[in-house]
Amino acid sequence: MSLLSAIRAELGMIRMTMSNAVRLHKTVGVRVGPSSGSGPGVMVGGGAPVVVQSMTMTDTADAKATAQQCIELAGAGSELVRVTVNTPEAAAAVPEIKRRMLDAGCTAPLIGDFHYNGHLLLTRYPEAARALDKYRINPGNVGTGKRRDEQFSMICAVAVENRKPVRIGVNGGSLNQELVMAKMQENTDRRLGMTSEEIINECMVLSALQSTDLALECGLRKDQIIISCKLSRPRDLIAVYRDLAKRTSQPLHLGLTEAGMGTKGVASSAVALGILLNEGIGDTIRVSLTPRPGGDRREEVYAACEILQALGLRSFSPSITACPGCGRTTSSTFQELAERVQGYVREMMPAWKTAHPGVETMTVAVMGCIVNGPGESKAANIGISLPGTGESPNCPVYIDGEHAMTLRGNYDELATAFQKLVDDYVERKYPARRS
Ligand code: SF4
Repeated sequence: MSLLSAIRAELGMIRMTMSNAVRLHKTVGVRVGPSSGSGPGVMVGGGAPVVVQSMTMTDTADAKATAQQCIELAGAGSELVRVTVNTPEAAAAVPEIKRRMLDAGCTAPLIGDFHYNGHLLLTRYPEAARALDKYRINPGNVGTGKRRDEQFSMICAVAVENRKPVRIGVNGGSLNQELVMAKMQENTDRRLGMTSEEIINECMVLSALQSTDLALECGLRKDQIIISCKLSRPRDLIAVYRDLAKRTSQPLHLGLTEAGMGTKGVASSAVALGILLNEGIGDTIRVSLTPRPGGDRREEVYAACEILQALGLRSFSPSITACPGCGRTTSSTFQELAERVQGYVREMMPAWKTAHPGVETMTVAVMGCIVNGPGESKAANIGISLPGTGESPNCPVYIDGEHAMTLRGNYDELATAFQKLVDDYVERKYPARRS
């Protein structure tokens, strides 16, 4: 066997091992939604593709603004959308939020996030309980002592009555302190030698599993329960979810509880979620990014979609390949063009994904010079190679690996012409569905 063949064989084995590693944690499938007349619902777990979800940051009592943000998040790729239900006014607004979403053709299941008073709001606002497609319960925030189990059971009873699934969502920042104290004492008494991080991590898992048992005792079925155990540090999150995956077959919602802002938040989430997802752990994800003041909430959806797409688990949107730029190109044209194409694709995707099935697999390249430009452009479905410094001012365009034409002109002319070529490619390659 030649050296090249041996390397190819080895690479083939590695690829097989990687693909076999994906989706190893077998979980029960939980269908979220639909409430009446709101589409097919979304399957979480049970071998279904990993689902993206997000959460609004509007005041839920403002039904118009919240519905609008739900619609925008769903349009960006969020398959489940969660709103906080924290006050009587918020609970009262839920049916209108759902109605506005449906009126706009948005069938993404709507989830209510409850803390402290969920048992009261869900029983006093039965229309909200019916309109929501899933309830999130934080076992650390449903009360203390005996009232904790009673109030938790009240929420489960509403879920049973309305046939809704729940997420038992444990958070590091609001962990059941009675459980933590008991485990700390046990660690001291029995000289177990566990670190405080190990005790917290163990308590996270125990809280989720004990609450799952209680939910089952209350009459919920296994196919109505999703679990999460969110922490803010990636290494802790990875340890906790590996443990959870060994101890439960309930579907798992992955996410850091406070990923942080910008690059830090995206990098932390990509590391933590990427490692777990590549081990087959995780059925739905949320990337909890802190937006800049006035920032776009959809960034967290884009980040979640990119993580799944980078791992080869889902395709949400055409991928844009752009080189990082270097001293060979001092013009910013290729950066501006890459940004414009990325923005255009995101803007068009809500319409494209229904009208042009398969468009999410399209690849587009925008490259800065002759070194890698033609090669990457040929490898994409449609690519443009811009001239680097000192190169002749020609921009060859490649379509499905063939040189199709050469564009020339200033930035606006190039951008308009290339955008038109992308549009034409989408129309031709991913024909519209017949209605
Ligand atoms: S393609 Fe050209 S401009 Fe872009 S990073 Fe490579 S060498 Fe630099």
